[in-house]
Amino acid sequence: MSETQMPTARTRVVREADRAVYDRESVYRILDEGFLCHVGFVVDGQPFVIPTSYGRKGDSLYIHGSAASRMLRQIRDGVSVCVTVTLLDGLVLARSIFNHSMNYRSVVILGKGTLVEDTAEKLRALRVLSEHILPGRWDEARQPNERELKATSVLRVPIEEFSAKVRTGPPIDDEEDYSFPTWAGVVPLEIKAGSPINDPRLDPAREVPAYAKNYSRRRAG
Ligand SMILES: Cc1cc2nc3c(=O)[nH]c(=O)nc-3n(C[C@H](O)[C@H](O)[C@H](O)COP(=O)(O)OP(=O)(O)OC[C@H]3O[C@@H](n4cnc5c(N)ncnc54)[C@H](O)[C@@H]3O)c2cc1C
Repeated sequence: MSETQMPTARTRVVREADRAVYDRESVYRILDEGFLCHVGFVVDGQPFVIPTSYGRKGDSLYIHGSAASRMLRQIRDGVSVCVTVTLLDGLVLARSIFNHSMNYRSVVILGKGTLVEDTAEKLRALRVLSEHILPGRWDEARQPNERELKATSVLRVPIEEFSAKVRTGPPIDDEEDYSFPTWAGVVPLEIKAGSPINDPRLDPAREVPAYAKNYSRRRAG
């Protein structure tokens, strides 16, 4: 299948277009650092935007959940979705209230989901999700049994029509405001893991695995 040229009419960033990013590698870097998305869809004219986790492999985004979840039933039935991922990097404090901003990297994907029905593929997709969120965990946990697999729906959303938007750097004030007597700059924000807390029923001899002790969302590149 030939690849759609980005942006499409629907994914062209309008305001501050210089912050738009449309190349796949940059979009994948953002998607790989995050694991929470918001899935937007419309049912009977009412939009819903549901937060959930995801995993990415290649040009596929996988979302999973209870087979009974409305979000998954709707998407499975071919409803159009808008999936948004946001990484918040900082609060940007300008001299004027008007020019306050945030540093961020965000992705918007438009498309339609399809249900992953083949059991082997479903297991692979669940592994992708698990490894995306917590690399190293899948092989050390009990694998899903038939009942659990049946109770879980997995959806694939193709990463075909997308955009990213990135803001970095200091505040941008109006020239006459640079002499205004207040602090200006950036308060960096990031997801940081705390020290793992043992389950009260854990065998005290069991050590915390490295992937939990050193958990980080920072990705190379
Ligand atoms: C943490 C954060 C805080 C923000 N705060 C504000 C705010 O307070 N006020 C405000 O107006 N805007 C804010 N934005 C920017 C906002 O997401 C939109 O970019 C903005 O509303 C302008 O959209 P538009 O009219 O250009 O595009 P729209 O017409 O709304 O969208 C057209 C297309 O552009 C693409 N697009 C638009 N925005 C983004 C994005 N952020 N990431 C990826 N693709 C995008 C999509 O493909 C979309 O379909 C914030 C963004 C983030 C991530």
